[in-house]
Amino acid sequence: MKKVILKEFKQEKLNQLTAIYGNDEAESLYHWLVEDVLGITKIDHHLKSETEFADEKLKDFEQKFDQLLKQVPIQHILGYAEFFGENFHVNSDVLIPRPETEELIEWIIADFHKADEIKILDIGTGSGCIPIILSKHLPKAKVFSLDISQEALSIAKHNALMLDTTVTFYQQNILKANQLPTEVDVIVSNPPYVRNLEKAEMQNNVLDNEPHLALFVKDNDPLLFYQKIAELAFKEKNKPMIYFEINQYLAKETEEMLREIGFSQIGLKKDFRGNDRFMKVQK
Ligand code: GLN
Repeated sequence: MKKVILKEFKQEKLNQLTAIYGNDEAESLYHWLVEDVLGITKIDHHLKSETEFADEKLKDFEQKFDQLLKQVPIQHILGYAEFFGENFHVNSDVLIPRPETEELIEWIIADFHKADEIKILDIGTGSGCIPIILSKHLPKAKVFSLDISQEALSIAKHNALMLDTTVTFYQQNILKANQLPTEVDVIVSNPPYVRNLEKAEMQNNVLDNEPHLALFVKDNDPLLFYQKIAELAFKEKNKPMIYFEINQYLAKETEEMLREIGFSQIGLKKDFRGNDRFMKVQK
């Protein structure tokens, strides 16, 4: 056992983290790691001045802390990300679920919570965060999901099982598809949409640890996923509605492209940061 004076311990760790992450993120990373590994909450820091930790636990903490200093995402260090109040297993094969994507899901839940048996298809599922949360919150819906990556699908399947939801998964490259894998009422997608020219805005821990396959598109063809998905949807007899997460800089271009395909009702929604981020698309 080792005795630790919490105030000193925190200050020492924060000094190191702040140099890399800035004050706010350092503070939240510190508390997340300490609570997860050492079982000490933020409130404990006010209530106790000192505490004792088993040598093993402290060693585990120090190893994980070193990874944080190397800018490994905390979700990869701990193996999970919190999204919509649930823990999702994540690793470098899937995108860490982003808080704005919760708002995309909220939009769909608000629109369909009174609906009967609708069918929903998520395209580009990654960790499975979108279809799994939809399935949880719309228990009458049948939820389908596809991804090109076998590795991502095995994580999504694991998450569906852990979170006790039924989602039907398909492995498919949507860009090569001639039709949707199943007839649905609603399509949702958060496809890759970051242009290479936007890389400069991104943090190193994203660039070094998250799958580029899930993030990036070519500068000269940034809407390819939206176009393909919209074309496939438009060909369907029942004309499913589509909910997209979009590139904040390309809302106008995305809308024009969708109108050209033939969609006429297009709703744009901002995310909590005030960026153009979501689109609801209907014929
Ligand atoms: N919003 C994500 C990011 O900024 C990108 C998500 C995506 O490409 N679909 O990292």
